[in-house]
This record gives sequence, C-alpha cells and structure tokens, in this order.
Amino acid sequence: MLKGLELAAFRRQLLGWFSQFQRDLPWRRTKDPYRIWLSEIMLQQTRVAAAIPYYERFLQRFPDVHSLANAPEEEVLRLWSGLGYYSRARNVQKAAQEIVAKHKGQFPTRFGDALGLPGIGNYTAAAILSIAFDAKQAVLDGNVARVLARLGAIRGDFRESQLWQELQETADSLLEPKSPGDWNQAMMELGATLCTPKSPQCLLCPVVQFCEGRRLGIAESLPEKRKKRATVEVVLAAAVFADGRGQTLLLPPPESTKEKASADHVPTLVSRMWHFPTVSAAGEPRKDLMAFLRKELPEERNRNWELLPAGKVRHAVTYRAITLLPFLIEVKTLPRLSGAKYVPLADISILPVSNLTRKVARAALATAGLARAKQ
Ligand code: SF4
Repeated sequence: MLKGLELAAFRRQLLGWFSQFQRDLPWRRTKDPYRIWLSEIMLQQTRVAAAIPYYERFLQRFPDVHSLANAPEEEVLRLWSGLGYYSRARNVQKAAQEIVAKHKGQFPTRFGDALGLPGIGNYTAAAILSIAFDAKQAVLDGNVARVLARLGAIRGDFRESQLWQELQETADSLLEPKSPGDWNQAMMELGATLCTPKSPQCLLCPVVQFCEGRRLGIAESLPEKRKKRATVEVVLAAAVFADGRGQTLLLPPPESTKEKASADHVPTLVSRMWHFPTVSAAGEPRKDLMAFLRKELPEERNRNWELLPAGKVRHAVTYRAITLLPFLIEVKTLPRLSGAKYVPLADISILPVSNLTRKVARAALATAGLARAKQ
C-alpha cells in the first residue's frame, strides 16, 4: 500500500476534504464517549437520518451512563422501539451497568476493556476510543472495507478471515497517528457519501489519484459480490383479540434460552419484544391458529371464535421472507393467557413493541372499523 510521501499526501487530502465537507451530525459535536458509543450502536444497521431523532430522544431521557444503567429495561426498549435489532438496546444497557459496576461509571480507555463490554466488537471499540480519546486504533467495517478494496483493487470475499485480517492491516497502515479520531471518521465519511456501494462518485473523490480500482476501471465491481443464501418463505398467523372496550392482549418477549435453542422459534421470528400470539402456519392459517389457541387456552377449547382475516403484513428477517396473516378476534372478555398484558389495541406502543407488531395492530384496527361500518 501507500508509503512515504504518497502516504502523507493521501492522509493530507482525505483529512482536508473531511474538515471541509463533513456532515454536521449531533454526535460529531462531542467528545463524550457515552454519546459517541450510543451513536455507533444506533448506526449499526440504521441510516443516519433515521437514527438522529432516536439518538436525541434517548439522550434526553438517559443523558449519562448512570441514568441508562438504572432505568427499567422496558423503558429502554420503548425508546428504542422502531429502530429494530433490539438486542442492541439490551446490550447497551447491560454495558452501561458494567461500566457503573466495574469502571466507576467511566467508559474504559483500554481497547481490551472496551471489547469486554456487551455489544462492543473491534469496530465499535476502535471507533469510540479513537474519537473520544484519540487512541491509535483503525476502524474496519463493511463500509471502510469497501473503500480499502477499491483503493487497493483488492478482490475476494470479505467473509474470509484471512482477507479481513489483511484489510485490517491496511487500515492500520493508513491511519493518521496524529488525529486517529478524525481519520477514522474521514474514512467512514468517504464510504458513506462518495465511495458508496453503487455508483461511487470518483470525480468528487479527494483521493482519486491514489485509487487503483478506479485506475483499472473496476471500482464499481468491488467488493466482489458474495453468493446470497436462498430466501426461505415463512407464513405465520397472529391472533389479535379485541374486546368491547378496544383492549387487546400481547405476549411477553421470548426468553433468551428459547431464542438460542432455535432460530426458527416463532415468537423470535416475529419480534423479540411484546407481540400478538403467533403460530407458524404451514397448512391452513385459520385452522392452525385456532388449534394453537385451543392448545394454549384449554379452558376455552369449546369457544367458537370468529377469526376475521385482516390482510397480510410482509417482513424480512435475514434470509427469511415472512408473510404474517393477522386475524381479528372480537370477544366480550379477553382470554387469560399466562404472562400476557392487556393494553388498548389503538395504543399498543405503551409496551415495547416492534414495527411489525405495530403493523399487525393497524391492520386489525382497519378490519375492525370495516366490520363495524358494515353492521
Ligand atoms: Fe472510491 Fe472512487 Fe474514491 Fe476510489 S476514486 S476511493 S472508488 S470514490
């Protein structure tokens, strides 16, 4: 890779571009490791524009590590609700509790200590420590790896640990030791704004003359595509009970032991938060759901509920394409289900629920409205 004067010019040009053109983002106005850490976790799998309002709301309620550590988990999940990937929220809170218990409330400054916290891997630890404390740690995630692969015209599958290790060594060799935090952010910014996955804007790129991928005319084809796992179609049916007062029932988040036991565990597929009773519908969805309810509610097995179809909601989880069929069940009295909570159907978000569960509730509400209009 680059050495000597070339390396110095590369660093100067990238940092000059970053200081002039960087986006003004809330987490760039602070050196507080807590705020930087929170932004890094929220930005995993979430776009910047979508993360900003969550970031600001979260910090208003939990302005420091102590307030987060001491909060009820349900409240943390509620403020995360809508961002998805809820294990991130749980891990952030567990890590906050460890920081209070083991590090006197201060984010650890040693790389190894940061890595020991739940939800913090190499990339996140390097990002936080370099930005907050100027630690000389180069970040490497998919975004930065794409930039490096193009700069060096590096081919191959990023999932191979040997190649990933080589990319990390390249990232380390490029890091500007005098300002590692700015350097890492400049690399990320280049990947996020110009060297994007599709159609890199090489004509605007501050380091175009160092780019081997561009010189060879192969930049757009890098990184090489990896083979996709075939999509598996999953059909689920959900029971949305509603009584005369508009109350419904939701079941609690699945237990973590069950989650680990099976990646196909139905409640885990639907949501790791509060959710409607849901069953895998391999055969006839209405019958499968009725059989499930009779099994879960043996004392109600002779009840002949009317299951009103409420459209379909589509959702994707990794390689699974989920079609969820909500059924509205209007009852006089809501059945008693172990662990259930009873909330207004129009306001289920008073519990931590996922976007998918909210969509199911909306579909059922629309069906309830239609049914009443017909009467
Ligand atoms: Fe990416 Fe193009 Fe810049 Fe190379 S020249 S780093 S491909 S934007």
